[in-house]
Amino acid sequence: MKLIFLGPPGAGKGTLAGIVSKEYGIPQISTGDIFREAIKKESELGKKVKEIVGRGDLVPDELTVSLVRERLAQPDAAGGYILDGFPRTIPQAEALDAFQHMDAVVDFAISDEVVIGRLSGREVCKSCGAIYHVKNMPSKVKGVCDRCGGQLYTRPDDSLESITNRLEVYKKQTEPLINYYRKKEILKEIDSSKSPEDTLVQIRKALGKN
Ligand code: ADP
Repeated sequence: MKLIFLGPPGAGKGTLAGIVSKEYGIPQISTGDIFREAIKKESELGKKVKEIVGRGDLVPDELTVSLVRERLAQPDAAGGYILDGFPRTIPQAEALDAFQHMDAVVDFAISDEVVIGRLSGREVCKSCGAIYHVKNMPSKVKGVCDRCGGQLYTRPDDSLESITNRLEVYKKQTEPLINYYRKKEILKEIDSSKSPEDTLVQIRKALGKN
């Protein structure tokens, strides 16, 4: 199954992609994670994208598409995958269409207000990438990952300034993809404003796996 998880920042794409990936036995491919990993390692790619990602702007299409193309050529992606955070622009979607056939696009619908609340309290594990929220989904021990014991941190692009910019960028550049995939008749719309459990039930139904 080849899936795209589409939606604004903070909609829960990453959290749900992690769960669905385990459940369906297909890898979660997150462009955001790829960029953050490169920034952490201070690789050539990391140096190129650090400022862009920190501001909440989009990495140029050409660079992003070539990374995804490489990633999808890995053997673990042969049996399907979840794209989390890609495509994010019409040119990215068109480039993907040219070499892959998607089965479904899950659109995570949510209001700006809920998104801002979620992102402004989000914490991520430095080691395994698990996602928490200081109020809605706190770790058992403050600052420590329940899953692996790693250290939790706040993403630099989860500052209020960057969150506001990411939402604007989403509306301008990414939201048009909803119509793009609706026209292709592979769009599955879900309400992601509730709990991850509730969202998971909706995704299973939308994908016909309940
Ligand atoms: P979120 O969905 O919470 O904004 P992501 O982890 O998906 O976070 O992405 C973080 C950042 O990585 C984005 O703000 C952007 O700078 C960059 N990025 C991720 N995916 C893409 C993409 N498909 N195209 C361009 N830039 C991207």
